[in-house]
Amino acid sequence: MEEDYKQEPVQPTSLRGMTAIVTGGARGIGLGIARTLAAEGCRLALWDIDNDSLEAASQELRATGADVVGQQVSVTSTEEVEAAVASLIQRNGRIDVLVNNAGIAGEKLVMKMELDFWQRVIETNLTSQFICCKAVVPSMMKQKFGRIVNISSRAWLGNRGQASYSASKGGVVSLTRTLALEFARNGITANAIAPGIIDTPLFALLDANVQDNLRRTVPMQRMGQGEDIGNAVRFFASPSSSYVTGQVLYVCGGRSLSSASV
Ligand code: NDP
Repeated sequence: MEEDYKQEPVQPTSLRGMTAIVTGGARGIGLGIARTLAAEGCRLALWDIDNDSLEAASQELRATGADVVGQQVSVTSTEEVEAAVASLIQRNGRIDVLVNNAGIAGEKLVMKMELDFWQRVIETNLTSQFICCKAVVPSMMKQKFGRIVNISSRAWLGNRGQASYSASKGGVVSLTRTLALEFARNGITANAIAPGIIDTPLFALLDANVQDNLRRTVPMQRMGQGEDIGNAVRFFASPSSSYVTGQVLYVCGGRSLSSASV
């Protein structure tokens, strides 16, 4: 007699062989995250709009033996994101980890901020995370396993001159907590990381005086590196963190302990 049972999907037991998307993965923090996950044996999809950096990052990681696909995707485009998800599932069979990292800075005082500036920052930093989650979650639900890691910022606490940026990053925290609640029964966790000052091209765009002032506000008196964020992502992405969801982890050299603005 034929056995009557439903076959449960096989669950990963380690990061090795898991497929992870890193948005904005071509440089900066995203590349630091990609390096960390590649070292653990993850198969990587780097999503970015900067094709030259994407190619360079993919080559660097492949030279270490990593399985990497670079996909030119704008995370604000539902069509591009859905197409990239479909082709990645066709290639790798599954998606285990989504790291929503792509983002832009936005420095302007409220009274000098035009509406389109506000909207561009919110769309790139927050709406994009909603778009990517919606595209990836159905496959995670099917396999009853998924790890979503959203990159927020310590600035979500509020920063003078960063209304749109801080609001977008506060929105990331609220989105993450809601994702955690909605998918808690599906084997999918959602957590956020709030980096402090990290040494990346985005930080280098800031005025030199602003950079110096910011550095002095770090209790550890140093900037973080992309790999510092990668180490936190590794924890949230691991199958062993299955009981941790809806949390915000500050990786900021102690800077979140002081509420002083800059
Ligand atoms: P970078 O600018 O160095 O890297 C971001 C990458 O994302 C770039 O390659 C950029 O491409 C890409 N990108 C931008 N828009 C899109 C898009 N629509 N679709 C796909 N890719 C896109 O930034 P960081 O590494 O510094 O920052 C990464 C994340 O960390 C951001 O979310 C940022 O807000 C956050 N963060 C950074 C901190 C820091 O101190 N650096 C502190 C706290 C949070 P392109 O260059 O062509 O625009």
